[in-house]
Amino acid sequence: MVQDTTSGREPVDLAAVAEERGIRYFLISFTDLSGAQRAKLVPAAAIKGMQKNGAGFAGFAAAFEFSPADPDLVAVPDPSSLIQLPWKPEVGWLASDLKMHGEWVEQGPRNTLRRMIARATKHGLTVKTGVECEFFLLTPDGQAIGDAHDNAAKSCYDASALMRRYDVIAELCDAMLGLGWEPYQNDHEDANGQFEMNWIFDEALITADRHVFFKFMARSIAEKHGLRATFMPKPFMHLTGSGCHAHISLWNGDTNICYAENDPLGLSEQGYNFVGGLIENADALCAFLNPVVNSYKRINAPRTVSGATWSPNSVTYAGDNRTHMIRVPGKGRFEMRLPDGAANPYLLQASLLAAGLDGLERRINPGAPLDINMYTEGHKVKDAKKLPLNLLDAVRALDASDAMPRILGKGLVEPYARLKMAEWNAHCGHLSEWERQTTLDC
Ligand code: ADP
Ligand code: MG
Ligand code: MG
Ligand code: MG
Ligand code: MG
Repeated sequence: MVQDTTSGREPVDLAAVAEERGIRYFLISFTDLSGAQRAKLVPAAAIKGMQKNGAGFAGFAAAFEFSPADPDLVAVPDPSSLIQLPWKPEVGWLASDLKMHGEWVEQGPRNTLRRMIARATKHGLTVKTGVECEFFLLTPDGQAIGDAHDNAAKSCYDASALMRRYDVIAELCDAMLGLGWEPYQNDHEDANGQFEMNWIFDEALITADRHVFFKFMARSIAEKHGLRATFMPKPFMHLTGSGCHAHISLWNGDTNICYAENDPLGLSEQGYNFVGGLIENADALCAFLNPVVNSYKRINAPRTVSGATWSPNSVTYAGDNRTHMIRVPGKGRFEMRLPDGAANPYLLQASLLAAGLDGLERRINPGAPLDINMYTEGHKVKDAKKLPLNLLDAVRALDASDAMPRILGKGLVEPYARLKMAEWNAHCGHLSEWERQTTLDC
């Protein structure tokens, strides 16, 4: 597999950067198949060798399909991803690409996203994305909402609840301002204890690296303030869950080729084809976008105490209407509302690109938009495809998919599907309190 790890930039000497910026340690990190971030803390004095040869890990110890007998999984840091931890600037965080036996690893989530970006480049396209990472601030044990006064049924945009968390939110936003991410708004979301912070969109790899870093930073800064940040899709059954909507547009140089002035939704034919690919591959996509057992308590959910779940239940699209899987909020871009907080940031982007490129390559027509309230009128639409009801359905859809292994690569899809099936089986091995309550007296 050919892979360019310099992203076309001049090679950067990390040892010199450390000297210049006062970096004492580098956190050489990578994201495994489950989305977890793994790392080694490397003193600046040793970065030269690590930059050249990579940092070695036992691949079996992370969530990958490797055995303890396999050689080192080598994390090759990408200097262009360097971020000094805003809360500890003497540490420089680096995202890495993965190698084994001297070859790029197909299972590597960041490697996979690079493959999809290379495929888009062949079409002359730069894919730009923005993500909206919703999260809850809980007590450190994760059992309750961190703010006991935050209990209104309609708590979205609650100014007082937002300001009671000012210290955490402002520290996070200041960090993003300092990093040049151009954050532009922060709010209290629909659920008690839930927040969202938005920064501006960029190329898919940059957004994915920022997404990984944002989760790490939110957890770290919340912890400093005696709270626990969670991106769990549905931590409380009666409250709205945490989504991670992804906004997408396709560029050729400075031209947004999704944009069409005269189309009713403002989308070009290529824009519609990309949407067509997302729609056609939606059930298999769920394995990546809704990757845990808990994800299916967010999508397809009954109404929450706020009055709406804000998450999709069927495979439909519309204009500026938040009850569908895909919303076209404005001309020249679309919003995929399916992903949740548990999605692996790299596989989120990679799988969306794969499905969208399938749509472009096969010129898939998404059909007409459906401008109705899907929450109240969805039952009237007889041919609207429903989303998978659980992780098992999604993994089976991934197993049956033609496009996902063909485009994302079998070397990624097959181990990933086996990992997720093992997760489903582990879940089935648990006896729930609900089963006991409803079955003891059978
Ligand atoms: P909403 O809550 O209405 O869905 P937000 O403002 O919370 O929207 O998030 C919108 C996200 O979409 C941001 O990350 C923003 O930068 C991104 N975005 C805006 N325009 C585009 C575009 N043309 N292409 C990709 N992403 C975009
Ligand atoms: Mg050792
Ligand atoms: Mg938003
Ligand atoms: Mg939101
Ligand atoms: Mg949104």
